[in-house]
Order: sequence, then C-alpha cells, then structure tokens
Amino acid sequence: MTELWPLPQDPIVPEVEAACTRLGLARRYHELDRLPEFPRREFRAMGRARLLGLTAPRRLGGRGLNASRSAIALYHIAYRAGTAFAKLAMQPEFCSVLVERGGRELAGRWFGPLLAGRVLIGNHITEPTAGSDALAMALEVTPRGEGYVLNGTKSEAAFAVDADAAIVYGRAPGTKGADGISGFLVPQRLKGIRRTLAPLDLGERWQRRGTVVYDHVYVPARYRIGREGEGFRYLRRELIRDRGLLAAIYLGAARASWDETVRDVFERVTFGRRLSERQAVAFPLVDDGVALEATWLFTQRALARFDRGEDASAHTAMAKVRSTEVALATLDHCIQFHGGAGYSAAYPHEQRWRDVRSGPIAHAPSEVLRGLAASHLWGDRTREGPGAGRRGPRGSGRPARPRSAAR
Ligand SMILES: Cc1cc2nc3c(=O)[nH]c(=O)nc-3n(C[C@H](O)[C@H](O)[C@H](O)COP(=O)(O)OP(=O)(O)OC[C@H]3O[C@@H](n4cnc5c(N)ncnc54)[C@H](O)[C@@H]3O)c2cc1C
Repeated sequence: MTELWPLPQDPIVPEVEAACTRLGLARRYHELDRLPEFPRREFRAMGRARLLGLTAPRRLGGRGLNASRSAIALYHIAYRAGTAFAKLAMQPEFCSVLVERGGRELAGRWFGPLLAGRVLIGNHITEPTAGSDALAMALEVTPRGEGYVLNGTKSEAAFAVDADAAIVYGRAPGTKGADGISGFLVPQRLKGIRRTLAPLDLGERWQRRGTVVYDHVYVPARYRIGREGEGFRYLRRELIRDRGLLAAIYLGAARASWDETVRDVFERVTFGRRLSERQAVAFPLVDDGVALEATWLFTQRALARFDRGEDASAHTAMAKVRSTEVALATLDHCIQFHGGAGYSAAYPHEQRWRDVRSGPIAHAPSEVLRGLAASHLWGDRTREGPGAGRRGPRGSGRPARPRSAAR
C-alpha cells in the first residue's frame, strides 16, 4: 500500500515518539477515560522528559521552539497518545502570560515548577453568565491594602479541584470591556475559595472540570500579572498562538484514526470483497485524508505568520475551526467503517471523537471564531457600515456591478 504522505517531520519527532512509548502514554490515555483523574505521575514524567514547555524559554527549562515546530511535536503526541497528553504538554503555553508578564516571582516560583510537572496551573476565565463573551466577565477585583480582594464565580474550568494555582481574570468595579480586566496568579488553597466538580463530561474527562467560587479572597499585589487593566490584552495574544497549536492536536488525533482505519479496510472483507474496494468506503476516506493534510498545511502557514510576528488572529482562529470540523468528520467515518466494534471502547476512535468534540466549544466556540476571523479579514470595511466601498444604484445599499462587456 502506498503512503499518501508522511507525518510532519522535525528533528524533535524521534525524541517525542520515544518519550510517548517509554511513558506508556497511549495505554494511560485509554484508562483516564474510564477512571477520570488528573494524571499527576505522567505529568511529572512529561516534565522530566521535557515534553512540557515546548515554546517556553530555555533559561527556565523549556525547549524554546517556535510555534510551527511546537505544533509538529504536539501533532505527534496526539497521534501517539491522544489529545490528553498533547493538551497537557501545552499547559505551560496556556500559562505563558506568567513568564511574559509575570516578573521574577511568578516566572521563577510558579512557571518553572509547571515546566517540571511539579505544579498544575489552571485558567479561570469563563463565568456562568460570561463564556463566549468573555469581556462580559463580572468577577470583581477590589484594591485593598497591599493587594486585592476577589469576589465572583468561575465555571467550566479544567482541573477545577486539582489545580495547585489558577490564572484568574477579573475586573475593577465600575469598568466595562477589556480595559478593567486584570489577571492574577491565585494559589488554590487561599481562604475563601470553594471548588466543586461538575457532572462527567462527554470527553476529555481527565480535565475534571468544575466551578470555583471566590468569596472575599485576598491576593497580594505581587501575584498580579503585568499591569493593572491589561490582563485581557495579554491573554488575547496568547490565544492567537494557542488556537493554532490546538489545531495541530485535533489533526494529529484524527490522523491516527485515519491511518488505523485505512489499514483496517484493506483487511476487512464483507460480501466477499475488501471494504477498501467499495467506493462508499474508499471515497470518504480519500476526502478525509486530503482534508486533514490541507488543514495541516493551512495551520502551519497560520503559525508561520505568528512566528514572523505578523497578525495571525484570523488564521489561527480558522485553523482551529477547520481542524475540529475535519477531525470530527474523519473520526465519525473511522467509527462507521469499523462497524459495531468501532462504536465500542475496543477501538480508540470513539474516545478520540468525544475528546475532539470539545474543540468547537472550548477556547471560544467556532461561531465566535468565524466572527473574529471575519472582523479581522475585512474589519475596516465592516465598521464603515453597509454599502461601504463603491456605491451601486442610489439608495440600493448594494455595491456597483462590474460593467458587462456586452453593454
Ligand atoms: C473541555 C472544556 C474545557 C474548558 N476549560 C476551561 C478552562 O480551563 N477555563 C475556562 O475559563 N473555561 C473553560 N472552558 C469553557 C469554555 O471556554 C466555554 O464553554 C466557551 O467559551 C463557551 O462559553 P459558554 O459555555 O458559556 O457558552 P455560551 O457563551 O453560552 O454559548 C453557547 C453557544 O452559543 C453559540 N454562540 C455563543 N455566542 C455566539 C455568537 N456570538 N454567535 C453565534 N453563536 C454563538 C455557540 O454555539 C456556543 O457554543 C472549557 C470548556 C470545555 C468544553
């Protein structure tokens, strides 16, 4: 059988493959679905293997890779060990405001141990009445003495009861929009914090999501990340890169199922013929293979823009949106072409499908990201209002038609 195209290549790949095998991550991925717990032992082992902090500075123990190369490493972790360990490998990226804006204490005392897998740091952005519209967040941050008092509720949060600390976003009283929002590193054992686990998720169960209530929690000023009122701006930049990296994870997981299914349909015989000989099976798999590769190339281009310092907001947003759609469609076919066994936990396809299904919701829903992409791609013209640009017939609100040659 001819290989359509090789997996993405980079000098770091053999080391990543070897670490995934040595740490037994594929088997553990399957176990975590049935017995959801935070895999602390593996997290530490990943720290020792330097799988945490792919983009993090070398001086703190990270790899110092750019986003494009990190995406290749994450693709391979997801390919070999599922989305769980690839997302865990990304946990330092989700916290990179600590090192970029956090000063010596937050970078040294918290980010360093995170890279080593010794502490787990979550992110608390979503609130019961402010999810997609994060700028509507209401958790109140009031200055008091040498610090701040936090009051409010964060919901949907990964590692709700497991995190040692969380990056918590809240706003100054009386503010609106991005301006009043600041971020804080909040150790989760502080007085006034109540944490509860939410009902079991469809997938990504090891994240053990839940709600965290901040009831008059005092946080010293040294735990503020960067400047007061700038928190959301820092977060926005981080998210641009992270959406591209997440796309690599969804594509890596789906590619694993695609490869396994292509092998399987060459062996499975029904009605006296191999499944691979039937167009109803072969054509969707060919389409999926092309879509996976095309979306991967798009993702790489988006991340290359980010690495060059260009605005990649629309590009990584669309990479995440398309990667989840392509991956879910592929995984659905993989379940289908394995028949009854494909619907069961005997194969990893259903777990991968359930895990990737979080993708169109978490880190901003696809609908919101499409809106973000549109506003970045033609934002100025949209802001000018309807009918901006060349005018059509007076009062029609339509742009002018090009003159036809026949006129
Ligand atoms: C696995 C997982 C892990 C998560 N981890 C974290 C975490 O660690 N920390 C954290 O803070 N949050 C986390 N979240 C929460 C996640 O970021 C939010 O669920 C997400 O932003 C959507 O917010 P919401 O749930 O309030 O949905 P809502 O804002 O209520 O939106 C519901 C749906 O409405 C549609 N919609 C919303 N706005 C628009 C619009 N403008 N145009 C068109 N359609 C729209 C979308 O389909 C959306 O899914 C996690 C979520 C999941 C699934």
